[in-house]
Amino acid sequence: MERFCEKQRGYTLCLSYSAERISSEVERLASAISTDYEGKALLLIVVLKGAIFFAADLARLIRCPIVMDFVKISSYEGTKSTGTITITKDCEIAVAGRHVLVVEDIVDTGLTLSFLLARLHAEGPLSLKVCTLIDKKGHRKVDVIPDYAGIVCEDGFLVGYGLDLDEQYRQLPAIYEVQ
Ligand code: 5GP
Repeated sequence: MERFCEKQRGYTLCLSYSAERISSEVERLASAISTDYEGKALLLIVVLKGAIFFAADLARLIRCPIVMDFVKISSYEGTKSTGTITITKDCEIAVAGRHVLVVEDIVDTGLTLSFLLARLHAEGPLSLKVCTLIDKKGHRKVDVIPDYAGIVCEDGFLVGYGLDLDEQYRQLPAIYEVQ
C-alpha cells in the first residue's frame, strides 16, 4: 500500500500509525491494565522523554488509583543505539511494596528495559510489569517481553507522538517512519 510521505526539516517522514490508530491502542491497553489491577494502586514509572505523550494519554484512561514517577535512561544518539546505557534522572518515589508498571515508548533491542527492570526489581516492588506503545521485535538482543504492548512492528526508525530524532518531531500527533 502506498504511504503518505512528506519532507519535514531535512528528513522524509512516511506515515506509519495514524492518531486514530494510536488512540485505539491506548484505549485497549488502558482497559486491560484497569481490569488487571482492579482494587490495587499502581505506580507508573514513565521513561522520559519518548513516553510522555503515551503516558499522559494512558494514565487518564486507567481506572485505578495511580501515582506517577519519571526516569530518564538513554542509549540512543540520532537513529542508532550506542549500547551505553546512562541514567540521567532516577525515580523519586520508593518502589518497594508497590505495584509498578513501567511505561515505555518503544522496546527495541530490549537493553534499556532489562537494565531498568533489574534496578527496579532489586528495590523490592510487589509486582513489576511493562507497558510499551511499540514493541519493535526485529532488533531484540535480550529476551524481554512487554506485558502490555500496543503496536508490534519489525523495523524502521519512528518519530512522532513523543518519539524524536535529535529532539525533533516529538509533537507530531501521528507516528512516522524516517526514510
Ligand atoms: P532499546 O534499549 O530497547 O534498544 O531502546 C529503547 C529506547 O530507544 C526507546 O525507549 C526509545 O527511546 C529509543 N528508540 C528505539 N527505537 C526507536 C525509534 O524507532 N525511534 C525513536 N525515536 N526512538 C527509538
